[in-house]
Amino acid sequence: MLLTASQAKKLYKFCAENKVGMIAVNADGDSLLHDSLIAAVEADAPLILETSLWQLEGKCFGYGDAILGLKKYIVDVALMASHKDFADVPVIFHIDHVPANRAVDVLTTAISGMPVNVWDEEIKVYPSSVSFDATGLSDQENIKCVLEVAKVAKEVGFDLVFEVEPGIEDEPTEPEEAVALFEAIEKEAPGAVHLFAPAVGTKHGDTTRSGRSTFDVDRIARVKAALEGVAKRPIGIALHGSSGLNNEQLSEAVKAGVTKINTCTFFLGARARAMYKYLDDNKDKIQMGHKDMKETSKDPSLDAAVSKTMIPIIVDRMKVSNAAGFGKKALEYVLSE
Ligand SMILES: [Zn+2]
Repeated sequence: MLLTASQAKKLYKFCAENKVGMIAVNADGDSLLHDSLIAAVEADAPLILETSLWQLEGKCFGYGDAILGLKKYIVDVALMASHKDFADVPVIFHIDHVPANRAVDVLTTAISGMPVNVWDEEIKVYPSSVSFDATGLSDQENIKCVLEVAKVAKEVGFDLVFEVEPGIEDEPTEPEEAVALFEAIEKEAPGAVHLFAPAVGTKHGDTTRSGRSTFDVDRIARVKAALEGVAKRPIGIALHGSSGLNNEQLSEAVKAGVTKINTCTFFLGARARAMYKYLDDNKDKIQMGHKDMKETSKDPSLDAAVSKTMIPIIVDRMKVSNAAGFGKKALEYVLSE
C-alpha cells in the first residue's frame, strides 16, 4: 500500500532502528515501477519508488510538465500499490532531489496537494517524502530552501518528511557540518528531517564493477551518530550514487546506518540490456511478413521478457541491503497505534 507522509515517517524510523536499507528505485516508467512491486512481494521488503525531475518531465509521465508528471506518477503508484497482490508492501513515493532552482516551486506545489480530476470528481494527491539537490548551494541557501517548504507545510497542515543533503558530490561531509545544518533546520521546523544524505565519496551515474574506492563507509556511521546525538530520534542515512558500489560496500553501508539506497543507473542499464537482448533474440520475428510479428512486437511481450531479468536483480538488491524479510513487519509497525 502507498503510505501517507505520516506513515512514511514511521517506516523511516522502523528502518533506522532495524538497520534495514530500503531500495529506492528511481523508476522512469510504469514497467520498472510494477517490477519493483513484484520484487518487493517476492523479497517481503518495504519499497521506495522515487522520481527525478527528468522523469517527471519525461514523455512517459509529465510530457514537459513536472506537476502533471507527479500527479500521473502518484496515481499510478497508488493504484498499483492498492492491488491485492501488493497490499502487504509498504510503499513510499519520494520526490528525489529536484534541482535547487526549482525546489521550492515543485515541492510546495506537491505538498499542498495536487488536484487530479476525473469527470467532475476531484481528489488531491501528495508525495510521501521529499528532497532537493543542494549541489552548489551555501548552507544558508540550503536552509532557506528547506524552511520555505516547511513554512508551506505548516500552513497547509502537511506532515513534512524531508531528506536533507549538503550536496552529495561535494566535499565529504564532516559530522559537525551535518549537525550544524540539521540544527538550523530543526530549530525552525522541528521534526521535519528524517533522512540525511551526506557526501561520502559516491557519484551519480557511476557503474564501476569493482566498487568505488573513494567510498567512505565510516563517515556514514560518524554522521549518523552525530545527528542522532542532537536529534534524539533515529535519523536514517540516504545513499546517493549507489550504482558504483559492489554488494559488500552496500551491505557495509546499511550496517553503518543507510536506510535508503537510491538506485537509478544500475537498473537503467540492466533494463536497456534486457530490452536489447529480447529484440536481438527476436530480430527475425519482428520483420514484416513473419507469422509471429504481431505477438512478438507487442509492448507486453517485450515487457514480460524484461521483467524476467529485472525482478531477480531487484530482489537481489533487497537482500544485500537487508530489506528482505522486513516488509510485513514494517507495515504492521506503520499501521500500529
Ligand atoms: Zn541522487
